[in-house]
Amino acid sequence: MLPPGFAQRMRGLVGTDGVVDRPESLLVYECDGYTLERAAPEAVVLPRTPAEVAQVIRALWKDGVPFVPRGAGTGLSGGTLPVEAPVMVCTSRLQKIESIDIANRRVVAQAGVVNLWVSRAVKDAGLHFAPDPSSQNACTIGGNVAENSGGPHTLKYGVTTNHVLGLELVLPTGEVVQLGGPVEDRPGYDLTGLVVGSEGTLGLVTRATLRLTRVPESYRTFLAVFDSVADASEAVSGIIASGIIPAALEMMDGLILRAVEDAFHAGLPVDAGAVLLIELDGPEAGLPSQSEEVRELCKAQGAVEVRTARDDAERTLLWKARKRAFGAVGRLAPNYCTQDGVVPRTQVPEILRRISATAEKHSLRIGNVFHAGDGNIHPIILFDERNAGEVERVLAAGTEILEACVALGGSVTGEHGIGVEKIAQMPLLFSPEDLHAMATLRSVFDPQRRANPHKLLPDSKVCVEARAPRRQAAM
Ligand SMILES: Cc1cc2nc3c(=O)[nH]c(=O)nc-3n(C[C@H](O)[C@H](O)[C@H](O)COP(=O)(O)OP(=O)(O)OC[C@H]3O[C@@H](n4cnc5c(N)ncnc54)[C@H](O)[C@@H]3O)c2cc1C
Repeated sequence: MLPPGFAQRMRGLVGTDGVVDRPESLLVYECDGYTLERAAPEAVVLPRTPAEVAQVIRALWKDGVPFVPRGAGTGLSGGTLPVEAPVMVCTSRLQKIESIDIANRRVVAQAGVVNLWVSRAVKDAGLHFAPDPSSQNACTIGGNVAENSGGPHTLKYGVTTNHVLGLELVLPTGEVVQLGGPVEDRPGYDLTGLVVGSEGTLGLVTRATLRLTRVPESYRTFLAVFDSVADASEAVSGIIASGIIPAALEMMDGLILRAVEDAFHAGLPVDAGAVLLIELDGPEAGLPSQSEEVRELCKAQGAVEVRTARDDAERTLLWKARKRAFGAVGRLAPNYCTQDGVVPRTQVPEILRRISATAEKHSLRIGNVFHAGDGNIHPIILFDERNAGEVERVLAAGTEILEACVALGGSVTGEHGIGVEKIAQMPLLFSPEDLHAMATLRSVFDPQRRANPHKLLPDSKVCVEARAPRRQAAM
């Protein structure tokens, strides 16, 4: 229960349109992109400025109320699900790009700035913000920082942490701290690095100083068509082993590419077993020879065809099809759950075999669209939540896939984070001592666990609850 007069006090801080507390309006906030568990907060507060965020958090601290941060709500591991945190503080209205410094290649963006807006703002200077999650039309910088998000071009350019120079963080007490800064390699502990990927458990990010990267001079984009995912996987290993680092190396299996073709008419081969979307970039002079090598490598691994995008329009269409693949999956089933795990690249063929066995065992359809070059798999489990027992089978299949990733030498998440979804799997990767060390570190920022409680690090409550779908309001 919120303290008496809470909503009124919040409206005093953020304005009447900055508080959502009508039950029907709160339904919008009952889940993010992870829909298997739902719980609406009791109130959502939407500050407009970093200063308002600090005021809101100070008031919550005084009232002893835990909170859950939220950006655009595109997260795929349930990080914004309120678990014993009745108030959601949403940074999506902090939309200013505060400064652009072309000469030093950096911008300062507020947390609610949408990822793609940063690249658009600096496009004319030949620069961009390299992390490009497929959700980049919607997801926010705050969410990218909290999840240490990646994207198709992670293979060459790295994930969010490689592109963040500094952060402004509002601690759970409401105190505002500046971490890192405009200059590279500051001495002392890398607290910016600590906050990137901390999933909102250390406080609320309000501003980020982001590194800009030069847009490559030239591109070559290929669609390599294979009869099977096994052949495509071998081609991935072959390309990486050759020493070429493509900017992106993405795979879609037959099930997904038929749904994508239905939705976007990109000319994808609907009878193929799998396709690889391969992009090379860099100075024009180096691309023809690398392109030839990639073509040969694909053919050597059984590619039946290797198409090259002839111009920018064709390249854009291929990327549109890939980046919107999750949306197209809605054509295949009423519900789907996107899993996220990592295996060493050489184990991609094996994990795909195991995913297929899991699908058969649980009588589920599973498609695959993923960052193959990173070994970052995204099995998409299709289901219909109206069918009795289907959600439980999806949860069991997801767990088996993650366990297989760990058994093959990988990890339970490549980019979507732990949230609530994978919290029970953290002990597969970390010893009790490791987890204790992380919990101790968290306490330095948040001794009372007010910021996004029961996320990221397992505690007795979540380990038990994570196995049973949560469907009521929090608290
Ligand atoms: C279609 C689709 C495609 C996707 N593709 C990719 C992909 O290619 N790569 C990838 O990495 N992810 C991908 N995602 C997942 C998701 O988009 C990213 O995790 C993204 O960074 C989340 O941003 P958001 O603003 O939506 O955050 P939210 O979902 O609102 O929140 C995510 C987490 O961040 C925390 N948080 C949000 N804002 C703040 C803040 N200001 N301060 C502190 N904590 C905060 C929340 O508490 C939560 O734990 C995809 C999702 C979808 C739906």
